[in-house]
Amino acid sequence: MPIQRSTLYRSHGLMVLTDIDTGKTLFESDLHQCCHCQFTWQYKPGSGIRRGLCKRCGDITCGRTACDTCYPHEQQLDDLEAVERTQRARIEAAVRLHEWKERLGVR
Ligand SMILES: [Zn+2]
Ligand SMILES: [Zn+2]
Repeated sequence: MPIQRSTLYRSHGLMVLTDIDTGKTLFESDLHQCCHCQFTWQYKPGSGIRRGLCKRCGDITCGRTACDTCYPHEQQLDDLEAVERTQRARIEAAVRLHEWKERLGVR
């Protein structure tokens, strides 16, 4: 039976260092990315660096305490867009003082 790698440890990217003169590959490494903050690191098995696992996202986290709470990156972007929409709506709802005075007929 073939060995199956867990999808949790799938690579999120590949870093390749190439000698510009010879075109020879000097270094190659898998990159992993935190599903919450998008921090990206070089995969070093046995490095001893503590990483996390979000069971809700089904993906790995960078291991920072802030990322122990599930707050997926997509959700963060949606929330940011919602805040921007609210701020834009407030700006559009605001009337400049001189325009308001003109409307009221006050000088
Ligand atoms: Zn993170
Ligand atoms: Zn999560």
